[in-house]
Amino acid sequence: MNAAKLVLLLGDHLDPHSAALSELDPASDLCVFIEARSEAEQVWSHKARIVLFLSAMRHFAAALRERGLPVLYVTLPESCGESLVERLEQILLRQRPTELRCAQPGTWALREAIRALCTRLGIDYRECEDHRFLFPLAVFTDWAQGRRQYRMEHWYRFLRQRSGILMQGDEPRGGRWNYDSDNRRSFGRAGPGWIPEPCSFPPDAITQEVMAMVEREFPEHPGSLHRFDWPVTAAQAEEALNDFLRHRLPSFGHFQDATWPGEVWLYHSRLSAAMNLGLLDPRRAIDGAIAELDAGRASLAAVEGFVRQILGWREYVRGIYWREMPHYLERNALGAEQPLPAWYWTGEIEMACLRDVLQRTLETGYAHHIERLMVTGLFALLLGVRPQAIHEWFLAIYVDAVEWVELPNVLGMSQYADGGMLASKPYVASGQYLQRMGGHCQRCPYRPEQATGADACPFTTLYWDFLQRHQETFSKHPRTALQWRNLERKSPAELAAIRAQAADLRERYTIV
Ligand code: FAD
Ligand code: SF4
Repeated sequence: MNAAKLVLLLGDHLDPHSAALSELDPASDLCVFIEARSEAEQVWSHKARIVLFLSAMRHFAAALRERGLPVLYVTLPESCGESLVERLEQILLRQRPTELRCAQPGTWALREAIRALCTRLGIDYRECEDHRFLFPLAVFTDWAQGRRQYRMEHWYRFLRQRSGILMQGDEPRGGRWNYDSDNRRSFGRAGPGWIPEPCSFPPDAITQEVMAMVEREFPEHPGSLHRFDWPVTAAQAEEALNDFLRHRLPSFGHFQDATWPGEVWLYHSRLSAAMNLGLLDPRRAIDGAIAELDAGRASLAAVEGFVRQILGWREYVRGIYWREMPHYLERNALGAEQPLPAWYWTGEIEMACLRDVLQRTLETGYAHHIERLMVTGLFALLLGVRPQAIHEWFLAIYVDAVEWVELPNVLGMSQYADGGMLASKPYVASGQYLQRMGGHCQRCPYRPEQATGADACPFTTLYWDFLQRHQETFSKHPRTALQWRNLERKSPAELAAIRAQAADLRERYTIV
């Protein structure tokens, strides 16, 4: 019998309460999952990222079967190298549904391809609301209408007022919107000391089967599976949230920007992948954090810091992505054309900060925000890497990477490739910033205060070179003029030596 409604469940559509799954008739409707090589190969993908998506899909399909819903599941070996859209077309032709239901796909290109396919086949395409976000996309669209700049802080305050989250009447709870100034501590020379380990989810039989398949099918892909312990079900995501709220949230704010050699998680939640896949409702994470504040177990600074990331940043980058695509993908405001150094894929580099962050990323598929922004992202920006090359790396290498969230963070926030639409100024700093925020420099052959000579820190050399290369654009800009004025402290001879050393670095790191 033909299906009446066909629900397409992509790897990031695993929300058990999605409207796409409501009012289905098990007698005539069908839920479809497709594991397609194209999704893992369009960009080179970390093995842990592939395992996480496929294992979570298989667990979700099993849960739907238990709910009595009919499921058609195409495994990777069965999809025989066809793309997701090619296999979907075959299924649609066979099932002839009247309607294809789906939550919003995570990439613009895939959404367009599915819509075009439905139009061609004369099938209604219906996108349903889901719980991966707090607000419908239309809220951002209305807010952004007529604005010349979309500043995150304005958006965040607007959502606080609209939702009543952390509000007392019309005023922010505690009297302040922002506790960033309380939230920039580093660990000092002694380091972080003991930090509660996040709870771990050892691979069960389904995950182990997927791991074996990924090792077999994608042996050349980057990254390792030996530490794989990500939550792959909604129940595990809830457990991970509770563990974070109890044990790490109280110190989340203070050490949000800190980094330390060998320390992967610090006080971060490691919940992004669960939220992006649909396993954890972001509203639940926010409510949980506020409950900790109400119970007196976490401070307002910690809770506001956490809420800001989810209510503010997460909803904001999603809005930017859908508003600015497809042109956003091609933005390159600073004209950066350098290739990505090959060692981004191996971590084999002598700089202690980059080596540590890259190696941990390859082991786990994770690095926290400041490591992405101010280590791997910053180095690419200072070196002048083509934004699309670093975007592809970020999309491949982090388990939580889905284009709607990854692209604005990389192109906009970290590379300033959108010319200031997202970030009001480029996030640039020398090695001395990293020295303040973590303990890597003590273990590095380079010296963060030095811009030239054999011991010079490449971040510092490239930072001063960046200031020179972009002097015309930023020296008169009200937000950056002060930072650029520092160039006046350097003599012409010093500036020339920095330019020459930066050119040498670029040549050295071009070898692929
Ligand atoms: P926490 O530090 O515990 O933060 C709590 C939650 O807030 C996160 O789980 C996440 O859902 C949300 N959040 C925090 N910052 C952001 C942000 N800037 N944008 C959107 N949501 C945010 N996040 C992704 O989910 N996928 C990506 O592919 C991704 N790529 C990034 C690339 C760069 C260059 C940068 C600078 C940031 C990127 N981020 C991305 C945002 C952020 O780094 C991650 O969400 C965070 O590190 C995930 O770890 P966590 O869950 O421990 O987060
Ligand atoms: Fe990184 Fe420079 Fe510090 Fe070395 S000296 S760890 S390269 S910031």
